[in-house]
Amino acid sequence: MIDGRVLIVGVGGLGVPAALSLARFGVRTLGLVDPDPVDLSNLHRQVIYGISDIETPKVKAASRRLAEMNPGGAVEALVARLDESNAPALIARYDFVIDATDDPAAKFLINDVCVAAGRAFVYGGVLGMGGQAMTVIPGRTACLRCVFENPPDSAEIASCREAGIIGPVAGLIGEIQADEARRFVLGLEPRLAGGILTYDGTAAPRVRVTRVGPRRGCACGSHGRIGLGDATARN
Ligand SMILES: [Zn+2]
Repeated sequence: MIDGRVLIVGVGGLGVPAALSLARFGVRTLGLVDPDPVDLSNLHRQVIYGISDIETPKVKAASRRLAEMNPGGAVEALVARLDESNAPALIARYDFVIDATDDPAAKFLINDVCVAAGRAFVYGGVLGMGGQAMTVIPGRTACLRCVFENPPDSAEIASCREAGIIGPVAGLIGEIQADEARRFVLGLEPRLAGGILTYDGTAAPRVRVTRVGPRRGCACGSHGRIGLGDATARN
């Protein structure tokens, strides 16, 4: 059993593989927050759910399966959408946060609350045959706003929705996010602290990690306090 409290925001394409992986690792406490019930359209890639779970809140259905896999662990399930009113108190109760949402506004909310609270988190994003992940350790590595500055506009979000999500890519990114969480709660350096992993599965599938540093003028205020050298992950 690995002592640690990991919050997974969103129990869908990214959150399901992340939760299954952390349960197999034996992480003691998993928090799940998601407002949605299981839908028939989820079943092909959100493999923790079955036909009998349809219309059950995802966090409840997932909790049952995770408890079977990791009987010594605890699952704290919250049927809710993470928002500005509940995020600070919820995130403060965990050691590490996994951003498994599909909503850019939620990703920036997680970033801002984690930076303010000094909580480490791993960002994840998938689109079509591509995926990204990056771990943020506030005060030590670049935050999401250092890299992306602002959430995309609504036209860009709409084109992302149309591109859809390919199950295996979400599975890959979710598993990588879980490994970052596992390393953090074990006291090891997350591999993607200060680095953004990009997977491109189109023509010639490849994975690369680009080192990123704090951006001058970012609200996290890390620029000037930390250098890229500090942000380099040790494997
Ligand atoms: Zn920043």
